[in-house]
Order: sequence, then C-alpha cells, then structure tokens
Amino acid sequence: MTRAKPQTPATVRRLESPYRWLERIAAFAVIGVMTGLFLMVRADQPPPIPGVGFGATDFRMEAPETATSARTGRITANVATADALEVLGASATDAAAAATALRESAPTRGARLRPGSPFVAYFDDSREDGTPLLTGVSVRIDPKTTLSATRRDDGTFFASVLSAKTSIALHRISGVIDTNLADAIHDGGGTRAQAETFASLFPEEPELAKGGHKGERFDVVIEMIADERGNFLEAGDLVFAAFNGEKAAGSWYRFTPDDSGLPEFFNRNGVAGDEFLSREPVRGAEISSRFGNRIHPITGDMLLHTGVDFRAPVGTPIRAAGSGLITDMRYGDGYGWFVRIQHERGFETVYAHMSAFAEGLTPGRTVMRGDTIGYVGSTGSSTGAHLHFEVLRNGAYANPMTLDLPTGRDLSKDAKVLAAFKAQRDLIDAARGADPLEAVPPALTASLNAKRPTAP
Ligand SMILES: [Zn+2]
Repeated sequence: MTRAKPQTPATVRRLESPYRWLERIAAFAVIGVMTGLFLMVRADQPPPIPGVGFGATDFRMEAPETATSARTGRITANVATADALEVLGASATDAAAAATALRESAPTRGARLRPGSPFVAYFDDSREDGTPLLTGVSVRIDPKTTLSATRRDDGTFFASVLSAKTSIALHRISGVIDTNLADAIHDGGGTRAQAETFASLFPEEPELAKGGHKGERFDVVIEMIADERGNFLEAGDLVFAAFNGEKAAGSWYRFTPDDSGLPEFFNRNGVAGDEFLSREPVRGAEISSRFGNRIHPITGDMLLHTGVDFRAPVGTPIRAAGSGLITDMRYGDGYGWFVRIQHERGFETVYAHMSAFAEGLTPGRTVMRGDTIGYVGSTGSSTGAHLHFEVLRNGAYANPMTLDLPTGRDLSKDAKVLAAFKAQRDLIDAARGADPLEAVPPALTASLNAKRPTAP
C-alpha cells in the first residue's frame, strides 16, 4: 500500500511469441539508432523555446542510409503528446499508440511526462506512398533518463527506459558571505536547494536560512553530474558543508552507510548530528495544538490528537524531520495531501494538510533531514493553514515534543562502516585541497560513482 503499484512493462507481456528474440534484436538496433540520433540532436540543436509548443527540425541529412528523419518537439501542458506527434507527421493511429506506450511505462520508473520535456520523433521516409511512418519517439524525462516508444512490426509500440551513463565530479565553492549564503553558493555553481541543505546543517544559527551574516566563512563541496562526453547535466548532492559563523561552526560530510542505505551527514569522526529527528519541521512556526486528548475542532468529539500542529502561512516549506525513505505520499481523507517517511530504528513521521509536494518527490526516494518535502496548506480536515506533524515509534503514536529521541549515529561502533566513511571523507578532503577549477582525478570520480545509490 505504501509503494506505487508496479506495472508490467509492455516488453514482458509477450512471452509466447516465437520470434521474440528476433524482435528484441531488432528493437535494440532501433533503440541504438534512436539513442545515437537523440544524443546528436541534444548536442547540436538547442531545444525549442518553452511556451512555443513545438518546433520541427529535419535531420534527414544526418542519417541518409536509413532514410530516417528525426523531428523534435516538446511536451506541453495544453497539447496532448499524440496531437504533437500528429502535427510532426505521424498518422493519428500511430501517434495515439506511441503516446499511450510512453504514458503507460513512465510511472513504473517514477518518471513523469512533464510539460517541458523535449521529445524526438523518428520517421521512416522511404515508403512508396511517400507518407512518413512513425518508427519511434524518445522523450527526455530528466537529464539522465530517456523514455522511448519503438514501433513493432504489427504497428503497436512498446516502451523502454534508457539511462544515460553519467559521471560525478566534485566541485568546491568556498568563501565569505557577502550578500547572502544562497547567492554565494549559486554564484559558485551550486543551487538554492543546496544552500537550504547547508543551512539545515547548522540549526544553532537560524539566521543562516535567511542568508547569514556578511563576513561568515563557508566551504561547500557539491557533485556535478556530467554525461559520457563530460557535458554538464545537473547539480547533484551537497556532499560537504563547513561553516564558521557567529553562533555555529563545524564540518559535515555526506555519507550513506551500506547497512542503512540512508544518506546522512557526519562530522569528521563519523558521528551524525546530535538529534536524530528534528522536532520542528516548519522553522520558527508557532505550535497551535499539542499532542494528546482534545475536542476535535470540526466534529466536536473527544479524540486523541495524534500529532502536533504548527501554524504557518500557506506555502511555508516543510522539512523532513530526519533522513529516511518516502513510503507514502497522496491525498488521504482527513490528512489531505500528506507525506509519510520511514526512518531508522522503527520511527516514522507524517506531514499532513500540505498545499503541495516538493518538486520531484516520489515514493521510494530517500530524503535527508532538513530537505523540503512539501508546503504548508489546509487540505483535508483542516480549519486553517497548518502542518499536522506525527511521529510514530514501532507503529504507535508518540508525542514528538516529549519523546526521548535517540542521538545521532556513531559510525565508530562499526569498524567496516567507519572505514568506508573515512575513505569517502578523505576523497572529499582531497577535492577541497585541489584547485577547484581542476578536474577531479578519475579514481575519485569512479569511487564516488560506485557509492552513489541507484535511483529507485
Ligand atoms: Zn493536527
């Protein structure tokens, strides 16, 4: 009940076909050609201007032998994918079949056909009647993932997911806050989200979330994800944060212990933050209702209030109280839009009445303490904008405010895990010592890639 329902990919359903190996070989050949073309298109052709809908480009010259042409488009919010394919030259039947194959396979990988995703349609232009035949469509879901629908001989389409080979390089940003921390990190090549993660690591200094103070020193190492040819794709995770400010100072290294599989930040000696779960998922918010028996504000019944309510304006970020796995996120009666996170040691947290989920959040993803998971709202049974926050311990409701929470994990209690942590720490330190403009040694990149958890 907590995971997205798995669906059988179209490719697995046809087990009876005696020609399935032939079909498969043919399919992989087509995918190979499509991938090649797709990469070519990506590299050489700037994507159409967002908002315009779709542009058409003819790549006939680049693939003369197969008489295949590729035309680019873009998924838009108001034009159906099938209609966009039809405009590019596909027959109505083919366009609908390809669009359906794409849509049906996307959710199985936690991917979505989002407005703005660029796609490439491939046509066989060698037919006798002169009409182009749609042979496949590739949609770029995110910088690393491409979804393809490929035509079978019988005119149906099957979908497959291609993951680009990516590599991670480390990039250091360090200096002194001038205007604010987010600008400084952003100017150095990082993202606003990384600046938020940074601020959440130093809760003793709440001003840091608002930008910090001029003159405070920071040191950051982030991942830069590149494709096989070294082209920058996107910023990855923040892997190191050091701060020396008025009220807070320290260094944190991101590390994922093999046994838990959950990324956390540890100090130099392998000890995680002293509080395992934060008691304040909405920063600085006022508590409007405590845990315990109370008269329900809507029904008037005496009920156990199973959590703590934090009053805050609609849209205020809600942060994960601790690192964990998203096990559920949906609309629930009473709860409205809610997120459930499973943490280590039998703990779970629930965040209800949200107005929206954080972009990109899906069940099965891991989040870190302090990550924004959604925004305060008033959905479900709610009388005003607030977060209803629950903590469960081994399935039973607990009072988040009085709960005796375990302190952060100390890796030194497990020699093997500690050794793995130290290896990663030393790699990060090496990157900090290197000229930030110099490429990271291949050995370091390989090691970090090996440690990177695979996307669910
Ligand atoms: Zn409540």
